[in-house]
Amino acid sequence: VDEFELIRRFFLQHEKGAGVEIGIGDDGAVVAPAPDRRLVVVADTIIAGVHYPPDLPASDVGYRAVAVNLSDIAAMGGTPRWMTLALTLTEADEPWLEGFAGGLFAAAREHDVALVGGDTTRGSQTVITVQLLGDVAPDAVMTRAGANPGDGIYVTGSVGDAAAGLSLLKNSSNREAHEDTTWLVGRFSRPVARVRVAASIAGIATAAIDLSDGLGTDLAKLLRASNAGGSIELDSLPLSAPLRRMFSHDQVQRFALDGGDDYELCFTANADDHERIGELAAQHATAVTRIGTTEPGAGLFCIRNGKRLPYEDHGYRHF
Ligand code: ADP
Ligand code: MG
Repeated sequence: VDEFELIRRFFLQHEKGAGVEIGIGDDGAVVAPAPDRRLVVVADTIIAGVHYPPDLPASDVGYRAVAVNLSDIAAMGGTPRWMTLALTLTEADEPWLEGFAGGLFAAAREHDVALVGGDTTRGSQTVITVQLLGDVAPDAVMTRAGANPGDGIYVTGSVGDAAAGLSLLKNSSNREAHEDTTWLVGRFSRPVARVRVAASIAGIATAAIDLSDGLGTDLAKLLRASNAGGSIELDSLPLSAPLRRMFSHDQVQRFALDGGDDYELCFTANADDHERIGELAAQHATAVTRIGTTEPGAGLFCIRNGKRLPYEDHGYRHF
């Protein structure tokens, strides 16, 4: 297939999508945001061999490429609307493209996101960049700055599963697929961005960040942006049953604190809003756990058995 046939076959959809005036096929897309909303703009690149094992099923790669961006929109309190796809491929492998597009549109459909354009190139490595546009009410924007000393620190879902799942994927050669293994691997390959619960919390949260590099690293970023310190109780981290069943206590702790790719939402909120947060969590059937408290000063501390230690940063960095 040539470039244009490829775009037409795999990425052009029958329906343009809500708010899309001009979609795929022209030099640029034209979209119509609601007049009283702000645009939230994010982009994330995933590279074969860097962000995912090259043999990850194509549909998971497509799903993930969108999900990591949905998570950034969620962390800003936004509603995802439109996306572009910049695709660099080593070859036009049709079965791979079919799977990739299937996963990509599956993630997009969950949030009514329309693909409005992109770019397709050949290169020496598979590189996938999705840019996502969302909208948000001006007074509902969440940022990393804004946490006040004494706020509760919260996290959605459970932490450490994706890093554990990735480690299982990398060592999967002679392991038979166990129920727990499959679940943990799924937490890596099909992350569920917390879009709806995040939007509902946006009016309450004082600061928020999504967990891509690891709870410790990312929470430390939030605290720095807020000019605050904070401490977390290691025993209060939400850990899934499969994670606890499959790994030793030390490994679990390391995955939960330093492991990336969770795409959970970490946020801070005033203690008075604790009950309201519980109600919203129940409404969205999403676990939301209080794991610590922000403090005056700087730095992240970990508390275990009453002992307080500075967090040593082992989160993911490209350079
Ligand atoms: P141009 O040369 O003007 O940049 P292209 O010929 O590269 O445009 O692309 C043709 C159309 O297809 C454009 O509307 C572009 O946005 C869209 N497009 C290209 N690649 C992709 C892709 N991977 N996914 C979705 N749309 C794409
Ligand atoms: Mg052009």
